[in-house]
Amino acid sequence: MKQVTVKTSKTYEVWVGNGLLDSAGERIRALSSAQRVAVVSDDTVAALYAGRLLDSLHRAGFDDCSLFTFPHGEASKTLATAAKLYEFFAGHQITRGDWIIALGGGVVGDVTGFAASTFLRGVRYVQIPTTLLAQVDSSVGGKTAVDLECGKNLVGTFYQPSLVLCDIQLLDTLPREIFCDGAAEVIKYGAIRDRELFEMTASPDYRKHLEEIIHRCVSIKRDIVQNDEFDTGERMLLNFGHTLAHAIETQSGYTIPHGRAVAIGMVAITKAAAAAGIVPQGIAEELERACWMFDLPTSTDFDPSGLAQICLGDKKRNQNQINVILPEQIGRAVIHPMPVEAFQKFICEGCR
Ligand code: NAD
Ligand code: MG
Repeated sequence: MKQVTVKTSKTYEVWVGNGLLDSAGERIRALSSAQRVAVVSDDTVAALYAGRLLDSLHRAGFDDCSLFTFPHGEASKTLATAAKLYEFFAGHQITRGDWIIALGGGVVGDVTGFAASTFLRGVRYVQIPTTLLAQVDSSVGGKTAVDLECGKNLVGTFYQPSLVLCDIQLLDTLPREIFCDGAAEVIKYGAIRDRELFEMTASPDYRKHLEEIIHRCVSIKRDIVQNDEFDTGERMLLNFGHTLAHAIETQSGYTIPHGRAVAIGMVAITKAAAAAGIVPQGIAEELERACWMFDLPTSTDFDPSGLAQICLGDKKRNQNQINVILPEQIGRAVIHPMPVEAFQKFICEGCR
């Protein structure tokens, strides 16, 4: 079992280990004498794990527990789902002294966090992430969001959870493709901050080190978020590969999953930087080998100039410059501002 303390506008613990689902009740009880808890999940995750969570809550004396589930998938991450959650919380008389629990992947975490932050102007919530991506990324750091028709994550809040429980056993039921999609973010953390993490992840026996791997990712995210909770500077490092990834996701009509797009983005941008002499040769190839271990793609057939156009509309752009995150070596990334005119050529080079 490993623990990370996050000190932001709220201070909270992230636990990483086995068996945390069954001790969730006790751990929340240690923080509160409340009676009432609302659990939110999607249909897939609820069928697998909600029963065990509710048992644990009852054992810890939470007598009034209720469960709300919605259909799994990104299509549920909407204001309409948030509205249903508000009605559900109100119907179960959730007050500001009670607790909300998000049990699921990033979709459940984001929409539940959003609803928790706005219902009664903020009810405490716990993240119990059940995908690799949610354990290493979305459950920590306090970004909540819903999607609009015209784009992903366009409405949201910064609202930190009060507790995060990353139970590694829950990953056993994840389909390999979804696990591998999350691995792209793990590779990213290694590439920007931690060479050992990178090597551990890209090794054939990574599964033996999963607790350590997740712990290191959470620690990196903690360090970055503590320095830049509201995403105005250093937090940008977490966007390594992401500007291009967003363009690829958009271009594909969101049929290419996020992690796969991030893998392509990291490799392409690093190849472009090597060709331009900004980073040493060989880094892109190291990234590529790590991605291949998780069956992640590292190139795209989309027209690079079209992708570059989409990138230039990205929120990371700032007037006539665009901030490109580049690994100077595996384990150390920097923010590299680039004039907009140079960027188009740069992307075309990377996607060749
Ligand atoms: P997801 O929540 O849709 O989960 C993927 C699929 O796996 C779903 O069908 C789900 O039902 C299933 N699943 C989840 N856990 C399972 C388990 N243990 N066993 C079997 N099946 C399981 O997707 P995700 O990849 O976890 O999250 C993606 C979302 O996270 C996106 O909406 C993205 O915008 C968001 N995100 C948010 C942040 C943040 O900082 N808030 C960061 C990164 C991503
Ligand atoms: Mg990401």
